[in-house]
Amino acid sequence: MNTIFAKSAPGRCAAVIESQAPTASAMLPATLLRARPPRLPECSELDIVRHFTNLSKQNFNVDANFYPLGSCTMKYNPKFTEYVAALPGFTQLHPLLAQLGDAGRAQGALRCLYETERLLCEITGMEAFSLQPMAGANGEFAGISLIAAYHKAKGRSRRVLIIPDSAHGTNPASAALAGFDIVNIESRDGMVDPQALADAIAAHNDNVAGLMMTCPNTLGLMETHLPAIVRQLHDIDALLYYDGANMNAILGKMRVGDAGFDVVHLNPHKTFGTPHGGGGPGSGPVGVNARLMPFLPVPRVEKQPDGNYRLNDALPQSIGHIAPFYGNFGVTVKALAYILRLGGEGLERVAEYAVLNANYLKKRLEDVLDIPFSRLCAHEFVASAPEGMHALDIAKALLDRGFHAPTIYFPLIVKECLMTEPTETESKETLDAYVEALRDIVSRGRDNPHALAETPTTLPARRFDETAAARRIRLTEDMV
Ligand SMILES: *Cc1c(COP(=O)(O)O)cnc(C)c1O
Repeated sequence: MNTIFAKSAPGRCAAVIESQAPTASAMLPATLLRARPPRLPECSELDIVRHFTNLSKQNFNVDANFYPLGSCTMKYNPKFTEYVAALPGFTQLHPLLAQLGDAGRAQGALRCLYETERLLCEITGMEAFSLQPMAGANGEFAGISLIAAYHKAKGRSRRVLIIPDSAHGTNPASAALAGFDIVNIESRDGMVDPQALADAIAAHNDNVAGLMMTCPNTLGLMETHLPAIVRQLHDIDALLYYDGANMNAILGKMRVGDAGFDVVHLNPHKTFGTPHGGGGPGSGPVGVNARLMPFLPVPRVEKQPDGNYRLNDALPQSIGHIAPFYGNFGVTVKALAYILRLGGEGLERVAEYAVLNANYLKKRLEDVLDIPFSRLCAHEFVASAPEGMHALDIAKALLDRGFHAPTIYFPLIVKECLMTEPTETESKETLDAYVEALRDIVSRGRDNPHALAETPTTLPARRFDETAAARRIRLTEDMV
């Protein structure tokens, strides 16, 4: 498909209503104005509308089709959260207003921040939250920095973070970025193995800063040894990090603070009403128990005795800013709207449906795919492609039938892995249609292994040379 530049013809334009307001160029000194107009495309309104409508049709999206991409929670999010976040009272507010001592005119926004923090504390059982991190991985980096600050305040340097092999890939990446050495432990039957943990602790002893745990883990399983693990770490005054990106699996069923975790991050763009994908915006609120509170990022939102809200920058032990201002404020507004609209019962229902849907799919696919863990799963499950078939081929064949592929080849500990997450928002009819498509694909692949290698055939693009796409990347078009 051509870019919009190729459709440009001099003098074409869309209908616009002339504004009476002075233009930016009228207000700038002449020396700052460009001599020639920028080479922007000149198109009719119809050309523009068709161009972007057709482009959007080349994208797979959750508004159009089922998107069971494991670990990513590509669920349908209700549009009312977009409506609320787009209210002009929010979008027209300058982020510096609250900081420049004019918190009076930002009271509503500050209250939204404050109440969202309180609700997330209620949901997770933590003492305090910072809404500042801009994504899940950014929340991890913030949370690990809090663990580092905790040990530093105790006058010691601990350099080791223990991370199980069933953790999300961002966990070791964030830990490395924060300067920690990573000690990987192998899971047993899909669970963190208390013996492997004890061995790692014995080997690194008073150098262990903490443990990072993805829960439910990337195999879609809930850990069964949590109390023992918490005790093992706390016995040596090391801290426990809970990767709660997939909170939709446990909402209202378990509170990570009550389970003994010291720090948690959430992904509102998976769990709380912000669509996920396209690179953002997301956010990664980080919650802590009392022992980590002094180190939270600044500014903190505080409610004063007179009922007014203000921002407090004066926290001497804070790790400082993790992101500009208060993170992605619009995502916070959507999370607040979503939580209030669903209420406690609604949130519990989210977890029930997320888990029910995943177990339903898993059960119905048991005789088609190889499922390594037969136990009940949480919000997602992993399977291997049947003997002699490739996960990649199954994934591509699904695209031809209007389904997005599950996550493939992750987690690394399952061979030819297909990681499926149906999410709480899909109907039984959709799940059944997906099962039928997969059954048919596998049966065709068995009859003729080469048939799948040709897929997809119905999409705008077929298979890519992915190495070349990464190594010899071309992001510009040669302009005429
Ligand atoms: C998605 C995810 C992350 C990373 O979140 P981003 O917002 O993509 O940075 C971390 N951990 C788990 C378990 C996840 O599913």
